Amino acid sequence: MRIKLDRDTCPYFDKPMKDCYCGVFNSFTIPSIVRYCFNDYEKCTHYIQAVLMNSKQEVLKE
Ligand code: SF4
Repeated sequence: MRIKLDRDTCPYFDKPMKDCYCGVFNSFTIPSIVRYCFNDYEKCTHYIQAVLMNSKQEVLKE
C-alpha cells in the first residue's frame, strides 16, 4: 500500500509508542494513521500526551 505524504509525518511514526495507531496496520487503525500520523499529528491524543510528558521531564531535569 502506498500512501501519499502531503504534509509532515509525525516524528513518532518511525518509532511508534506502544499505543500509536501506526503500531498496527489494520482496517481499524488505517483511518487514524492517515488522519493523524500522516497529517494532523499535533491533534493526536498520543502525540499530545507524549509532548506533555517530555515537557514535564525537561522541567524536572532543570
Ligand atoms: S500521530 Fe499519534 S499515533 Fe501516529 S505516530 Fe504520532 S503519536 Fe503515534
